[in-house]
Amino acid sequence: MKSRWSEAEAGEAVTRYGQVGVGADLALRTYSARLLGADPAFVLHGGGNTSVKTTARDLFGEEIAVLCVKGSGWDLATIEPAGHPAVRLEPLLRLRRLASLSDEDMVGVQRQNLLDAAAPNPSVETLLHAFIPHKFIDHTHAEAVLALANQPDAEAVISALYGARVACVPYVMPGFALAKLAAQTHDAQPSVEGLVLLNHGVFSFGATAKESYERMIALVSAAEAFIASRRAAPAPRSPDVTPSDAAALLPILRGSLAGAAGGRWPSHWVLEARATPEALAVADSPALREWASRGVATPDHVIRTKRHPLVLPAPHGEPAACREAVNRAMAEYVSAYEAYFTRNAVRSAAGKTALDPLPRVAAAPGLGLVGIGRTAREAAIAADIAQSWAATLLTAEVVGRFAPLDEADTFDMEYWSLEQAKLGKGARGRLEGHVVVVTGGAGSIGAATAAAFAAEGAEVVALDLEGVLADIRHATPIACDVTDARQVDAAFAEVRRRFGGVDIVVSNAGAATTGMIAELAEAELKASFALNFFAHQSVSQAAVRAFRAQSMGGVLLFNVSKQALNPGPDFGAYGTAKAALLALMRQYALEHGAEGVRVNAINPDRIRSGLLTESMIAARARARGVETATYMAGNLLGAEVTAGDVAQAFVFAALMGKTTGAIITVDGGSVAAMVR
Ligand code: ZN
Repeated sequence: MKSRWSEAEAGEAVTRYGQVGVGADLALRTYSARLLGADPAFVLHGGGNTSVKTTARDLFGEEIAVLCVKGSGWDLATIEPAGHPAVRLEPLLRLRRLASLSDEDMVGVQRQNLLDAAAPNPSVETLLHAFIPHKFIDHTHAEAVLALANQPDAEAVISALYGARVACVPYVMPGFALAKLAAQTHDAQPSVEGLVLLNHGVFSFGATAKESYERMIALVSAAEAFIASRRAAPAPRSPDVTPSDAAALLPILRGSLAGAAGGRWPSHWVLEARATPEALAVADSPALREWASRGVATPDHVIRTKRHPLVLPAPHGEPAACREAVNRAMAEYVSAYEAYFTRNAVRSAAGKTALDPLPRVAAAPGLGLVGIGRTAREAAIAADIAQSWAATLLTAEVVGRFAPLDEADTFDMEYWSLEQAKLGKGARGRLEGHVVVVTGGAGSIGAATAAAFAAEGAEVVALDLEGVLADIRHATPIACDVTDARQVDAAFAEVRRRFGGVDIVVSNAGAATTGMIAELAEAELKASFALNFFAHQSVSQAAVRAFRAQSMGGVLLFNVSKQALNPGPDFGAYGTAKAALLALMRQYALEHGAEGVRVNAINPDRIRSGLLTESMIAARARARGVETATYMAGNLLGAEVTAGDVAQAFVFAALMGKTTGAIITVDGGSVAAMVR
């Protein structure tokens, strides 16, 4: 591990932030905090915190001593000066005289002393930063140090390695008590460069930002060198493990999560599989089950991963047997989590409310580690932390034995209100956890539909031709010519691999061929059917297979266009295919209702799009002797219908829990196109 401090970059930060009124202390604090945040070996996703003691002017122009400390909600990787809100130092220091201080009072005092009342809550480790007298303080959860701090004889290992440079602090939950203990430990050995908090992480300090940062680098490098000197043979693998396809196992896991949620907890979850060397080394080990029972590498991680990963059996044999084995493992996990809650909640006088008992990480031999979240982002965070846990565990096992925090202390952290507050209480979208596939995703209706589902919190994948993928917004683009069934299957497999499964499919891709039907070349009619009928059939088949793999129902929606009901002259090739598509919709509704698959059609008309271009609109308006605006608003409501209106109808259809086999018309009202 090398120092990435650059005098030139540090100077630039001082100049750049100076231009917006930020002092040199806070500018350098921001600069080196970002250096730490940029490396996942130090901190992950909002972990760690940094501070500087400096001065600021209050409203009266008086200079006061302040602690600028990381505010909650900020990530060191992207922190700005505003991410280190200033808190009056004097009142914080006076707190040290108290024998005890409740969490509520601690948060209250910290907020009351913010210079900017609108600033985020200062870190839960603010008092520790305040009580230690050094000007700059850096705190990380560096993997190499955690491998040592999670040893049964951690204190001996650490003192042998660092000598008098570092003092050890036994585990205490973050907050007032830890701040007092850490300060006391520091004061007993004031010459130390840092503190190792057992089962938790490492602090370094210094008179300058550079000194504190480079001491962190030195402490972590020393741990790395020590570990490297102990490097042993690679961990053994279970003999029967064969690489398994995430696309096959993940849908079964999603279905199992939905089943375990049982209507009480959110049913739809997004998955992210990781098959990195560390993830596989842990997942493929004969020790997996025992390792999984040990605990988290640093207590902060428990809110993202829970204390244990779900251990899945090696996927083999028939899908039905695999599903049964996954469901059994899930049921055991859920009852073990509920028992863990009951066992530990009794210690709390205030009473605790149980969180959902579902896992946030799964481990499967041959597959690696899987992050589980309500969004793709949450799944990725869980996967990142799981990978870091695996790396720390493997290293700790090389050094000695991975012995992390015990159950009771982990529970207290998981159910600490200040930790749960980190997860935020933002409004959840109605379709969060759902994976949506939209075909023709780059077109006007496809793009609007992708955006509408994304706005509901869903993860959206847009399929379209290679050449137009760059136009796709609000969705993950996947190249797919829907008229090629193999490409459709490959695209669906890719969606399962990336997100774990599929819940809603909007079969929207289409194009109109014009010409009188009597004069149409057979090839043109066949080409229209290939795209406007057979491609929908391939997409539907792939969708049904995906739904069945999860056995949690599904939603299949078609864009049938008004041509299916109200044919227009010269649109025979398009209209006949769309009429067949309407019949296809009914057939799927009929045959898959019992599996919980809802199938509906949207029937839009006169939407500005690739099918109805500006020049076509102009020509049609001219033919009717009206302005284009009048032509576009030529319906019962007298208002133009937009791609966004169609998109809302698709979302609406996805949310209608008891409707299948229906046609929803979105045309502003047209008697000729009314369903009768
Ligand atoms: Zn920490």
